[in-house]
Amino acid sequence: MTTTVGCDEFKHMMAGAVAAIKANHERLSTLDSAVGDGDHGVTMLRAAAHAEDAITQAASADLKSLVFDIGWALLNLDGGATGPLLGSLFMGMSEGITTDPLDGPGLASMFEAGLVAVRQQTKAQVGDKTMMDALVPAVEALRRTADEERSIEAMLSAAAAAAEAGAVATKDMVARFGRSRNLGERTLGTPDPGATSMALLFHGFYVGLAQPVPAAL
Ligand code: ADP
Ligand code: MG
Repeated sequence: MTTTVGCDEFKHMMAGAVAAIKANHERLSTLDSAVGDGDHGVTMLRAAAHAEDAITQAASADLKSLVFDIGWALLNLDGGATGPLLGSLFMGMSEGITTDPLDGPGLASMFEAGLVAVRQQTKAQVGDKTMMDALVPAVEALRRTADEERSIEAMLSAAAAAAEAGAVATKDMVARFGRSRNLGERTLGTPDPGATSMALLFHGFYVGLAQPVPAAL
């Protein structure tokens, strides 16, 4: 059972997130072809590569700098809505790190600070069919499980489930932000690509940290 997140644990979480994006990028582009311009999978693959480079090149072993470097690398993704939004998330998370390693409440605070930073970039709310539909419930789940003094694995598992449910719910929403907004009602029936990739990130955070092994037969 994990009770703290330092550099090593965060790197495991990121490795899981990168793996989840690599395994699902085609689906992300297919979704974006239906409600946008079809590039979201490719953009997320580039985001994953930028994040991997930042982790490999990280100069220091402290969590705050590591998360800052990832955020900076994501901000430098050219083109599209994703770079500024994801970059702000990680830059805000870095600002929200007050101890190293983080305990459960500290982990929730880090993600809450990330959400505050994203909200400075967009007015999109839950229900508007964007990445916020996955991010907001995931962050809320982290705070709730931290208050319940659950393990880091249990916190990330709850966040992943909440993000997934939020992303699935976007299928029945009409897009009110970003490129998809132009399609209006025609976005009904397709989950939002950005909400789906956000859910994949949280799924990856959980799997990367928990690294579940098959149960013994
Ligand atoms: P682009 O729309 O520029 O091609 P991407 O395809 O990489 O960018 O990402 C699209 C996703 O970005 C959308 O599915 C949505 O979740 C998110 N998004 C786009 N614009 C906004 C916005 N203004 N606020 C919040 N999220 C947004
Ligand atoms: Mg796109």
